[in-house]
Amino acid sequence: MILPIYVYGEPVLRKTAEEVDVQGTDWKPLVADMFETMYHANGVGLAAPQIGKAIRLFVIDSEPFQEAFPNAQIFKGAFINPVITEEWGEDFVFAEGCLSLPHINEDVTRKSQIHIEYYDENGNFHEEDHSGIVARIIQHEYDHLEGKVFVDHLSPIKKMVLKRQLNDIACGKTRADYKTVHKK
Ligand code: ZN
Repeated sequence: MILPIYVYGEPVLRKTAEEVDVQGTDWKPLVADMFETMYHANGVGLAAPQIGKAIRLFVIDSEPFQEAFPNAQIFKGAFINPVITEEWGEDFVFAEGCLSLPHINEDVTRKSQIHIEYYDENGNFHEEDHSGIVARIIQHEYDHLEGKVFVDHLSPIKKMVLKRQLNDIACGKTRADYKTVHKK
């Protein structure tokens, strides 16, 4: 089922998401809906707050970046109760976008390597290192669980330049190619 996407200005995007009971719930149906919603909107990642649920869960699929980053691994997966325990390496600049901020793309600097621990939708525990574009997608989605969006990383001047665009999104004036939830 394709779910509507909550956009910038919606309070759920500013909440610190809550840990979930991994074993006590069947997470597969929600994860399937999140993948379907993400693919429908041509996204490479989607976090639960973006579908209005302040819980620690996100999905990613880096496949669309294969052409731009031919040496990168392709990674698809669901991350439940994830914890990034370490970030290191070179600063990596990349123009990020977000399904909750339609039509905005800005350079964000982040560390190039991460270590992450999480459960998948079958309740299996993983701990992995990721780098490059996959690390980047994970870092972006992880921010959503902390109540952050990528424009929070920009300089005050950049944010001022974007103020009107951000207001338009929050007021529902910006149209996306998918169904959104915003103030009327
Ligand atoms: Zn996002």
